[in-house]
Amino acid sequence: MEGTFRILYVEDDPVARLLVQRVLTAVGYRVLEAEDGLSGIEIARLQHPDLILMDLNIPNMDGYAVTTRLKSLPETRDIPIIALTANVMQGDRQRALAAGCDGYLPKPVDIDLLPDQVAAFLKGKREQVEGAEKVELLQEHTRRLVSSLEETITELRDANDRLRRMEKVKTDFIVLSGHELRTPLTLIYGYSRLLLSPQLQEHVSPEAKGMLEKVSNAAERLSSVLEDIVNVALIDADQLDLTFDAVDLGTLALSIIEQFRPASQERGQRLETSNLEDLVHIQGDQNYLRRALANVISNAIKFTPDGGLIQVWCEEQSDVLDLVVRDTGIGIDRDEQEHIFDKFYVLENTELHTTSTTNYKGGGMGLGLSVVRGIIEAHGGRVFVESKGHDEETLPGSTFHLILPINYTRPKLKKK
Ligand code: ADP
Repeated sequence: MEGTFRILYVEDDPVARLLVQRVLTAVGYRVLEAEDGLSGIEIARLQHPDLILMDLNIPNMDGYAVTTRLKSLPETRDIPIIALTANVMQGDRQRALAAGCDGYLPKPVDIDLLPDQVAAFLKGKREQVEGAEKVELLQEHTRRLVSSLEETITELRDANDRLRRMEKVKTDFIVLSGHELRTPLTLIYGYSRLLLSPQLQEHVSPEAKGMLEKVSNAAERLSSVLEDIVNVALIDADQLDLTFDAVDLGTLALSIIEQFRPASQERGQRLETSNLEDLVHIQGDQNYLRRALANVISNAIKFTPDGGLIQVWCEEQSDVLDLVVRDTGIGIDRDEQEHIFDKFYVLENTELHTTSTTNYKGGGMGLGLSVVRGIIEAHGGRVFVESKGHDEETLPGSTFHLILPINYTRPKLKKK
């Protein structure tokens, strides 16, 4: 009979837990353990034990509060709760009963008596406080609950303030290091391009030219990675500083496509455009929108094998523009379609990464699409992908939609 009873012991002291566990298991009970109040509530709700032994002096949410909560939940309110606590304060027993406990056992437990005491409560024994004393104790219990709630809220508010300050320090650090690193990079890029210019051609040997190409490509790539890192930090902190103006999305898309055309031609891909001329202008930040579009188009090139087709077009629908980038590439599993917009989310094996933005399946840091989403959402728009799934043989392709409202007024930036 006893073997069928399950006793939940809520106690933060592992030694006390072990002792009670041994004693009760020896007489055939099954003992469940919780080391704090919250997990006690969770286990009680999920496992519905036959009786709960509740240490009152547990940290954070104390045993009185846990008892009140358990007695307020329909699925646990009928489980008898026996308070266990070091009998230091006069009135502990009454307080525990007023809080909703059905009995009280002083600690340390008397291991010879414990099995019988538990059996008595399982058979229906209940202790109670009565009359005026009960009302007074209940009032005191309520006051304690409210004051502990106030303490918790104050602690949470302080912790939240600390987190905000740390977050701001982190964003400032990333943005500042980004700027610091970008300055020398711009110099490296600028001078290597200058040395490659036709005017200086006769001063640069063909070998040096090859090396300079590599230096300038590396500098360009590095500066693009830096830009994504800084943008992600700014997006996280809701501090993207956009300058809104009238933007011709079609012309912008066409200029980005021209920028990528040589790389896609090298891969034998076709880049087709339609309906990008004479579009209604939208309100937005040209530079950030360029960044967002470039990330989506470079992904389309990256994740489409040589010889594939990439199409870019735009549809005007009532008050939004839907800019569409469709590829005939490897596609994206339906389960992954939401996650690819999360930062640092990369589906490919990172060991196979190359640093190119256009090589087949060339990897990145998984920041590109989270930047895209941040930028598009900061324009009051949304971005999503459609794909039948991922298959490197049948190439189902992916279609990205960048939906942008035509007349969007950006709310003022939050104070830093
Ligand atoms: P990264 O900057 O590393 O390219 P992104 O955030 O741009 O990261 O993309 C995240 C992941 O989404 C990529 O690693 C890739 O697996 C998948 N992905 C993005 N665009 C495409 C696409 N056009 N076709 C297939 N998979 C894609």
